[in-house]
Amino acid sequence: MTYLRPLLVLLLLTSLRAAPFMNASDSFTWPGGAGAAVCLTYDDSLPSQLDIAYPQLEAAGVKGTFFLQAKADTMEQRLEEWRQVGAAGHELASHSLYHPCRRGLPGRDWVAESRDLDHYTIERLRDELLLTNTLLQALDGNNARTFAYPCGDTAVANGQESFLPVTNELYLASRGVSSPQLSSMKELDFNNTPAFDLSHQDLKSTIAYLESCYKSGTVAIFLNHGVGGDYLVTDPQLHQELLDYLAANQDRFWVDTFKAVMTHTRQEFERLDWSVQ
Ligand SMILES: [Zn+2]
Repeated sequence: MTYLRPLLVLLLLTSLRAAPFMNASDSFTWPGGAGAAVCLTYDDSLPSQLDIAYPQLEAAGVKGTFFLQAKADTMEQRLEEWRQVGAAGHELASHSLYHPCRRGLPGRDWVAESRDLDHYTIERLRDELLLTNTLLQALDGNNARTFAYPCGDTAVANGQESFLPVTNELYLASRGVSSPQLSSMKELDFNNTPAFDLSHQDLKSTIAYLESCYKSGTVAIFLNHGVGGDYLVTDPQLHQELLDYLAANQDRFWVDTFKAVMTHTRQEFERLDWSVQ
């Protein structure tokens, strides 16, 4: 009967191993029992973000993510204000050094020839992204960084060479510009996440998107350029009403920076043994 002893030991070990996980969910969860996460993001280092969006966020007690392009008027003239935004707990993220875009695509005549991504090499882009990280680190002291693709472009050399491996190496997550609906967090591509552009939207369509993310237990990543000014403008009233809606539903939505939400999401992927795309 000695063969029973190893069996008993095995059973005991199995139950001990299982015990700490008994209360852990086997599905993706958000902090505080929230049904979905929300990120408010702002591209291009625009003055209206400092003048209008930031004060609205501060009044609401909500942290946003500012994807800064390093070569910008506000980075030269209002650098101390960006430093304060970072010190207040908002995320200073990378939107590259010069905001290069593919000039060869339709409607891209506005892209300066010196910033034409079609004429970039991978090495040049990587160097500029590293320099931007150094500059942002001088602003807020952080090492780990997230990124947003300028114009949503992901390739250099006339679109022939993808730089997705570079962003995958340099950032813990990168935000894209298209808004495919995730039916589950398992579908998330950390290296090119969806985004919902708030310019030209009204409250009804914005809430509809938010609630569809709630239903699927995913994340609503809102993209803004100008807020009440500059270009690709988000209506400042819509921005405020979205903040009001989130405040009224704070038990349902976890609102935090892109970096915080993506860090949590990576931890959940690890816990659930999901493969990262
Ligand atoms: Zn941009």
